[in-house]
Amino acid sequence: MSRPKKEKSGNVEKVPARTKKISFATRKKLAKQTIEALKKTYPAPSCALCHHTPFELLVATILSAQCTDKRVNAITPELFRKYPDVQAFADASVEEIGEAIKSCGFYNTKSANISKTAKILVEKYDGEVPDDFDKLVELPGVGRKTANCVLGNAFGIASGFVVDTHVLRLSRKIGLSDETNPEKVEEELNRLIEPHEWISTSHRLIFLGREYCIARRPKCDVCPLTSFCLKRP
Ligand code: SF4
Repeated sequence: MSRPKKEKSGNVEKVPARTKKISFATRKKLAKQTIEALKKTYPAPSCALCHHTPFELLVATILSAQCTDKRVNAITPELFRKYPDVQAFADASVEEIGEAIKSCGFYNTKSANISKTAKILVEKYDGEVPDDFDKLVELPGVGRKTANCVLGNAFGIASGFVVDTHVLRLSRKIGLSDETNPEKVEEELNRLIEPHEWISTSHRLIFLGREYCIARRPKCDVCPLTSFCLKRP
């Protein structure tokens, strides 16, 4: 068997990340350092998606797939003015909803999911969003990330770590996870981090991903995690 190829980083020779598993104890320590540093940088984090009700957050989170929060926040005020509640979305046609969310991308799929979800909420849940993970993930367009996001931010229930594209990337870079599958990363973060830290830490990692750990041009020299982050590829 050939030996793992080595790469140089300054004076330190490093084995490429994928070939080297990081121990649970090390990852636990990295998680603690990450939380402490993030708390100093972002003392009062909150959900970046503008919403007033659990249903508005559910719709905004469905819209945010493959789309920036900024773009979602640009269209939701008019969307929620036009369709002010679950019943209004259930009564609207898929085409009408699609027209109103067009600039978010994948609007055919998203409008169909929002329409079906609104109808199910009216028929099964009296027009309310259930505060139950299993019921949420049965709704069209709602996966683990959306369910965790809605439960955490609309109901204050820490059902699991929200793993979006920023959290996925940062978890690997910092050294918290070796996984590439969001569900496996969520499992690992759930084990490493106390439940009462899940909601706020997810927001803080997302802020860090936007401000410092930008996908193709991370600002490691000024990043608040630079003293301990493993900066893995
Ligand atoms: S130190 Fe660099 S790689 Fe690590 S989180 Fe910060 S910007 Fe990303």
